[in-house]
Amino acid sequence: LTDKLDKALHVLKGHGSITEVNVAETLKEVRRALLDADVNFKIAKEFTNTVKEKALGQNVLTSLQPGQLMVKLVKDELTELMGGETAGLNLSGSPAVILMSGLQGSGKTTFSGKLANFLKTKKSKKPLLVACDIYRPAAINQLHVVGDQIGVEVYSEPENKNPVDIAQKAIAYAKQNGFNVVIVDTAGRLAIDEAMMTEIANVHGAINPQETLFVVDAMTGQDAVNTAKAFNDRLNFDGVVLTKLDGDTRGGAAISIKSVVDKPIKFIGTGEKMEAIDVFHPARMADRILGMGDVVSLVERAQEQFDEEEARKIQKKIAKNQFGFDDFLSQIQQVKKMGSMKDLVGMIPGAGKALKDVEIDDDAFKGIEAIIHSMTPQERTEPAVINGSRKKRIANGSGTSVQQVNQLLKQFDQMSKMMKMMQGGGGKKMMQMMGK
Ligand code: GDP
Ligand code: MG
Repeated sequence: LTDKLDKALHVLKGHGSITEVNVAETLKEVRRALLDADVNFKIAKEFTNTVKEKALGQNVLTSLQPGQLMVKLVKDELTELMGGETAGLNLSGSPAVILMSGLQGSGKTTFSGKLANFLKTKKSKKPLLVACDIYRPAAINQLHVVGDQIGVEVYSEPENKNPVDIAQKAIAYAKQNGFNVVIVDTAGRLAIDEAMMTEIANVHGAINPQETLFVVDAMTGQDAVNTAKAFNDRLNFDGVVLTKLDGDTRGGAAISIKSVVDKPIKFIGTGEKMEAIDVFHPARMADRILGMGDVVSLVERAQEQFDEEEARKIQKKIAKNQFGFDDFLSQIQQVKKMGSMKDLVGMIPGAGKALKDVEIDDDAFKGIEAIIHSMTPQERTEPAVINGSRKKRIANGSGTSVQQVNQLLKQFDQMSKMMKMMQGGGGKKMMQMMGK
């Protein structure tokens, strides 16, 4: 998947400007990536159409780094599609009541425990877990095991076969005993059926929860969408919990569900352990679906820090052979603004892993800067005048050696040549060279 996108974006990088053909080609790959991640076909198509319009409408075609702008457009749009912002839980009410809904095996009982643990440890709440799965004695036990594990009390009435009654009594019990959150775990069936829907709708109507959460197994792909719709039609739930997002599950279901029921995804489950819970972040999920890792943040930082006007001026200078050490110095300062070298290298896909154990020196620029500072203005604009005695003077002034000065002059010379060839490579390429 990442390969595909790399290829798609490569197409863009290879050209000075994007043409309509390039945009179409890239979006075809993006669409494929979405389909691979289990996004509904119609939604994927609508999505790429929207991005295309935006790309062609904005100044993507004439921008300095069209490929990167395109990546950003795709990512922003995808984030928006999944709700944009992180959605919180409504915990007003004393106690706040949270009702779990979903099919059997979706992960309701596990998530009930995870959420109780999360609220207890991260939000200093005192939660009560309630066992309303009246069909399987094992289900009540399961919740007790979970409760013991995280040190949260579980309310159950093994003889009572009326879930509405159990839920109401549990809430009364919570009020009397100082619990401020009540999490009601319910029964599910393997497929949607009327009896289950009626039961959960009755519980919902009787206890009027602050939060009704729909729990769904992310691995079920397109089925997840149908189930979500059926539950939402009956319960008008407040949020979605995507479970089993560990391993290779790409999470395209998140997009499809959001598009169909228009309810925020609030949490994700990423394993069987009680700690395997995360607040849902649309932007991170967009990265995951696109398989781009952190390359997007790199692009964003680069965009923030590189002044386009400045870059244009430098390009002109390169073209006219006027690029000197002063410009070099300002480029170094631009790169430095972006963060530590280690951070930056870590964000380049592939490089992060490859260079994991290599020490990257944040002071790598210091010597270079010192040398440049010791040059006269003439030497900076016309490096050719730097002869042997000047080199000695510069080395002395900057606390370096003639060898180091030579090395920098050589690097600078090579770089000027390369930059002239690339015509318009911004700081990123320069940074890559300096990294070496
Ligand atoms: P319920 O029938 O909806 O209550 O589902 P359970 O909570 O009993 O979970 C069903 C199975 O899915 C159990 O084996 C859980 O351990 C497993 N499970 C739940 N959430 C996750 C998750 O986020 N990741 C993984 N890998 N397994 C999960
Ligand atoms: Mg259960």
